Amino acid sequence: MGDIRIPVTDLGAIHSKIREEIAAAIDEILSSSRFILGPPVADFEKEMAGYVDTEHAIGVASGTDALAIALQACGVGPGDEVITTPFSFIASSECIVRCGAKPVFADIDPQTYNIDPAQIEEKITPKTVAVLPVHLYGRPAEIEAIMDIAERHDLKVVEDCAQALGAEYKGQRVGSFGVAGCLSFFPAKILGALGDGGMITTNDAEVAQRCRTIRAHGGRVKYHYEVHGLNSRLDALQAAVLSVKLKHVDGWIDQRISIAGEYEKVLGSLPMELPRTADNFRHVFNYYTIAVPDRRDELHKHLAESGVGSAIYYPLSLHLQEAYSYLGYKRGDFPNSEKAEGEVLSLPMYPGMKKEDVEGVAEAVMTFLV
Ligand SMILES: *Cc1c(COP(=O)(O)O)cnc(C)c1O
Repeated sequence: MGDIRIPVTDLGAIHSKIREEIAAAIDEILSSSRFILGPPVADFEKEMAGYVDTEHAIGVASGTDALAIALQACGVGPGDEVITTPFSFIASSECIVRCGAKPVFADIDPQTYNIDPAQIEEKITPKTVAVLPVHLYGRPAEIEAIMDIAERHDLKVVEDCAQALGAEYKGQRVGSFGVAGCLSFFPAKILGALGDGGMITTNDAEVAQRCRTIRAHGGRVKYHYEVHGLNSRLDALQAAVLSVKLKHVDGWIDQRISIAGEYEKVLGSLPMELPRTADNFRHVFNYYTIAVPDRRDELHKHLAESGVGSAIYYPLSLHLQEAYSYLGYKRGDFPNSEKAEGEVLSLPMYPGMKKEDVEGVAEAVMTFLV
């Protein structure tokens, strides 16, 4: 196998351009010797609340923790059921189990890879307390229909926005629809830290307060604890770096959208499914994911041999994971998710990716298909 010429993602492409700015922010924190919470975290929380358009934002240690803390703050606990998608990163269901509740999966729409509202409705039982939709790959889920179902059945909605910062549904930012939105600052996400980080966005002052309490061991007054909490703070260092990067994020999203447009031009006529866009939502393309029926694994291998990176998000649906064997699901339960796991392939996509590289990817794809 040759060297990878065009990687699936390239963080160096953006960091090299703002290296000085990042270094200055880090230097300032080092000089202050204040590493836990404080003004850098509070400032970044305000900026993010503004960006997502919510009243509150709470910085935590990871996107995974953001999800678990948000659910706990909504009162989810043992005996409860939370409905989510079987086609996502494990964190989307892990957080439910961490709260002592039971994940209940509902199949995806085969065209969007996002949870299908009609399938949600079928899974609701008297024990259902919440729905956890994921805006997968950067494409908003059918959030209006989901909010409507949630309202009718008195369910909380916690949005997994880990891949979708800046995505919009009918002009409204994801993370501002449900009672809480959860973001990840894992380096490869739309807005990535230099390590782990996460955030909860909410318009509910009580939920916000509970999230703040839970992230600091469950207490508001030092050494006095109201609830069972954890140590899950966003580092001041990461917050300072993220504040610098946030100023550039809209430009980076625009670049992602324009790269997606280039892909559509060069791949549009080939026998594969490209991500769909439409006027009523803004897809931010954390990943550019195509579907290749029957020959996905061969194409994945061929691209690697041609020096082109690609990735499979995700090769095994959550309901089929060994960790969830106790839930009793089997192959055949969610046909759309199981079909997707065999067909999806994410192509190189990152701000700073050159037009020649998009063409290089297309060429490698074409030499395989002809
Ligand atoms: C990345 C991701 C998470 C978890 O975020 P971390 O910051 O890595 O803990 C959760 N859900 C989805 C869909 C993700 O892609």
